[in-house]
Amino acid sequence: MLIRDAHFVSSNTQLAACPTPDRPEYAFIGRSNVGKSSLLNMLTGRNGLAKISSTPGKTQVINHFMINDEWYLVDLPGYGYARVSKSSRADWGKMINAYLTRRENLTCVCVLLDSRHPPQAVDLEFMEKLGEDGVPFVMAFTKTDKQSSTRTNELIATYLAKMSETWDELPRHFLTSAETGVGRDELLGFIEEVNR
Ligand code: GDP
Repeated sequence: MLIRDAHFVSSNTQLAACPTPDRPEYAFIGRSNVGKSSLLNMLTGRNGLAKISSTPGKTQVINHFMINDEWYLVDLPGYGYARVSKSSRADWGKMINAYLTRRENLTCVCVLLDSRHPPQAVDLEFMEKLGEDGVPFVMAFTKTDKQSSTRTNELIATYLAKMSETWDELPRHFLTSAETGVGRDELLGFIEEVNR
């Protein structure tokens, strides 16, 4: 997919304030520092689009971007911040839950997972919840340039084996690197295919 235009639309804390749901929507989420901003910038080819390493816990907003006037790319606030109060974690939960279960044009969620790390409970639980709620999702393993491709493949095989313990059918997964651009064509191609 050629990205002809990518621009910021709005930041919201309420589902009701999100843009009119008149385009397919793809939302990206993951633990803080997983590489979400870098991946969104890499996908869109716009370096300042998503802000890299914004202050942890400060960005509890749903950011909408319009791509090619065809689909919405959504940057969801991450989970797993160490220094976030209980009440803001609860606010996050409410907002994300409302968004994920009631956003009518939400086509697919992309869950970002750091390719270097073994499966983390917080990610597995988040994906299980998506499954329970019937929200379609794919997984994107980030920062694959940080180790050899042999090591990346081993790590991902371990990850998928762990998921097979609870999932009959594994969600689709992508290998990505914001450094090298690996996974860009595959993820954008997937979105293009689904939008067709
Ligand atoms: P976010 O908190 O999930 O938005 O993560 P960021 O995009 O801010 O990235 C967190 C850190 O990881 C930054 O120092 C990035 O430069 C680094 N990073 C992100 N993606 C990659 C990647 O694909 N490869 C490498 N080597 N570093 C990355």
